[in-house]
Amino acid sequence: MYDDNNIFAKILRGEIPNTTVHEDDSTLAFDDISPQAPVHALVIPKNKYVSLNDFAEKATDAEIANLVRAAVKVADTKGVKEDGYRLLVNIGPNSHQEVPHLHFHVLGGRKLGPMLVKG
Ligand code: 5GP
Repeated sequence: MYDDNNIFAKILRGEIPNTTVHEDDSTLAFDDISPQAPVHALVIPKNKYVSLNDFAEKATDAEIANLVRAAVKVADTKGVKEDGYRLLVNIGPNSHQEVPHLHFHVLGGRKLGPMLVKG
């Protein structure tokens, strides 16, 4: 079940401000409020998808293409496309997904280190 009160739903409704990096018909991208790297943006679909699982099941091909292309566009806009960046998606409790609206993290601007904390 999608929670209409999640923080990204509020951002999409304009109830909470955001620093927009990219917007198209089906996608919004904005800076993360608590950046973990010099570049840390979030790319989200405008429609109500809880997770990547939900998105893969229900989104249109155009929405899926837009989201992927938006992530690369954000990397380009932020100047990290050529040096390299990390696209990260948390899905569900074991991944520590905190906001129940699908979001891609775009991280870059420094050496990001190993993908996972060991142990
Ligand atoms: P998750 O842990 O769900 O993969 O990531 C949620 C992300 O949302 C975190 O990186 C967190 O800093 C970010 N976030 C939480 N609340 C807000 C907010 O109000 N505005 C913005 N721009 N980012 C937020």
